[in-house]
Amino acid sequence: MHARLADRMQRASEEASAQGFDALVLAPSPDMAYLTGYAPMLLERPTLLVLRADREPVMLVPELERALAAEAPGASTIEVVGWIDGDDPYAEAARILPGSGRIAVGDRLWAGHLLGLQRTVPDLSFEPAAPVIGHLRAVKDDDELAALRRAARGADESFRQICTMSFLGRREEEIAADLAELLVRNGHARADFTIVASGPNAASPHHEPGGRTILPHDAVVMDFGGELGGYYSDTTRTVVVGAAPPGFERIYETVRRAQTAACEAVRPGITAQEIDRVARRIIDEAGLGERFIHRTGHGIGLELHEPPYIVEGNDWILEPGTTFSVEPGVYLDGESGVRIEDIVVVTADGVDRLNRSTRELQIVE
Ligand code: ZN
Ligand code: ZN
Ligand code: ZN
Repeated sequence: MHARLADRMQRASEEASAQGFDALVLAPSPDMAYLTGYAPMLLERPTLLVLRADREPVMLVPELERALAAEAPGASTIEVVGWIDGDDPYAEAARILPGSGRIAVGDRLWAGHLLGLQRTVPDLSFEPAAPVIGHLRAVKDDDELAALRRAARGADESFRQICTMSFLGRREEEIAADLAELLVRNGHARADFTIVASGPNAASPHHEPGGRTILPHDAVVMDFGGELGGYYSDTTRTVVVGAAPPGFERIYETVRRAQTAACEAVRPGITAQEIDRVARRIIDEAGLGERFIHRTGHGIGLELHEPPYIVEGNDWILEPGTTFSVEPGVYLDGESGVRIEDIVVVTADGVDRLNRSTRELQIVE
């Protein structure tokens, strides 16, 4: 573990200097956890990891958390520096930062801390660290892929089980609670979201499940996931209650074809936007293009949503080991909606779907 974290820090600082940065600065965040294994509470006292190509990693921590930081999995290769309440932490940070140049800064650094650094070291210019750290995190190693597969299997099993439970006459929030319980029963540390959007609510992609009672012929979009071993699951299936409403099957089949084609298009060397185009073309050709109101997908790993985003304009080239969702949808205001979502991984010569639960339209009772 220590060697892996040291290697990640090494690669991050090499990538930062290859991109012309003089330092990489990260606050407690998934980026910091990825590099150091350290995940303290995010509070008003700044904690900063500073990576520079020409020296050992340094972590500036509140003195009262020094012992905690020193126990972090990656700490053996990090110089931990404490600052005491009453000191100016930005003046302490200035001692470990270059006096001028370009700093890549993680997007979870609070604005107040960034303003403090800017005020204290006015000759530094700050730019987003995402182009540095996002590419590293996007390509998963074997242990990360194993965790993502376990999470996906737990989500798939939860879907299989929810389909055997009753929907008709129950409230969305009850189904959502069942799904959350199933995710935990199927190995998740916790459920993070359980969207259950029925009938006309299915037209809202991020619908908050509420008190609506599920009726015959409702379509029900279920988008759910949680965390297992630090990594996320995220899958969506759409079911119908009793029988599909008129015209629904055509829309469902369109989304299913779009989702299948987009998954099958995934291979090393293709860009993120090309995957989006594959899904969008099929939905456009069915005359439903304007009802597909979001991007095709997002990267997934230590965060539920992370780079690469599968969206027009993103020319990110997909590499083996990259994991992301493929989740086209069609939303008919006031009527219903359909979304189908799987997590996929780019392999050496193509793609592997981590989610395997059926994409045939399921009729629930
Ligand atoms: Zn979403
Ligand atoms: Zn989802
Ligand atoms: Zn998703």
